[in-house]
Amino acid sequence: MDELKKGIDVIRDDLRSVKAYAVQPSAGLIKLDTMENPFRLPEALQQALGQRLGHVAINRYPAERTVELAAALAKAAGMPAGCAITLGNGSDELITMLSMAISKPGACVMAPLPGFVMYEISARYQGLKFVGVDLRPDFELDEPAMLAAIAEHQPALIYLSYPNNPTANLWDAEVIERIVAAAPGLVVMDEAYQPFAERDSMDLLRRHSNVLVMRTMSKFGLAGVRIGYLIGRAELIGEIDKLRPPFNIGVLNAEAGLFALEHADVYARQAQVLRAERDQLIADLDEIEEVQAFPSQGNMVLVRVPDAAAMFDGIKRRGVLVKNVSALHPLLHNCLRLTVGTPEENMVLLTAFTESLPT
Ligand code: PMP
Repeated sequence: MDELKKGIDVIRDDLRSVKAYAVQPSAGLIKLDTMENPFRLPEALQQALGQRLGHVAINRYPAERTVELAAALAKAAGMPAGCAITLGNGSDELITMLSMAISKPGACVMAPLPGFVMYEISARYQGLKFVGVDLRPDFELDEPAMLAAIAEHQPALIYLSYPNNPTANLWDAEVIERIVAAAPGLVVMDEAYQPFAERDSMDLLRRHSNVLVMRTMSKFGLAGVRIGYLIGRAELIGEIDKLRPPFNIGVLNAEAGLFALEHADVYARQAQVLRAERDQLIADLDEIEEVQAFPSQGNMVLVRVPDAAAMFDGIKRRGVLVKNVSALHPLLHNCLRLTVGTPEENMVLLTAFTESLPT
């Protein structure tokens, strides 16, 4: 038998029909498509980081520094008593671990749609059922629909992205409270965009022991370093942590993460600039008659335009890469998602955007 065919034949049929997470090529473009922090560290700190990394024992497996990083992240997040933390190679890895943890036959993962695509992709990789519940047209949670879907499908795990990607809003806290109370299993509050939001879920976590809070250092300014973290009751985290691949956070990553936390004030100022830039970008977009910019609590702005495909191309031709999210969900018809960049980048974006409007 053909050797390649032998290999292909043992791969799961359902995996072969799954579409992989797509990353857009960005060479030579101003990259405003994936909610990265556009700022680097000031030169002196960048040099100091280089010095620190130069002394790391890369011949050893990661050990104490990862534990120190977890403790520092827990402290910075204000981890409640009785809780514990586990680290992922980005929150993407935590999503994988969560899917594995609940992977009993027939288990179901639920999330509002449109939402972060990895919840569904990861559930499918694990052979789990995924149930998406549409948001309302104003992107609020559809409480009756959520409660009905919970009663019908009994999800083992519900993801609530807070703020949501790609809609960028925070949902009504009382509705979330009722969803948590109705949930028959875990509720993960995905707070990837917490550095830019007015509220978080730490209090919800304190009051409900089936809630987990997931965060990442990616949007904070370390997307390349790949550090996500999950906080919840120690008994739950203890089980989920068993699924963490040993040594999943490299020694250089752990050291960079610790360095960043030591300079959290620098990152906090960057986040402050980005929040102000976001509000300015929304105000500028609001001036344009043909478009509708939605409110944002993240470092991105969702905007409805007359023709998303044509505008995406026009903006790209002018040197800026954004994300056309129109195909993700009918509620996102003709929507582009713009990541907030530096003040200079946002000016280029706005010019490219305006010039790309249909005449
Ligand atoms: N959650 C949400 C809501 C996201 O938008 C993203 C990335 N865009 C992630 C999690 C994953 O982040 P990371 O793996 O970089 O931590």
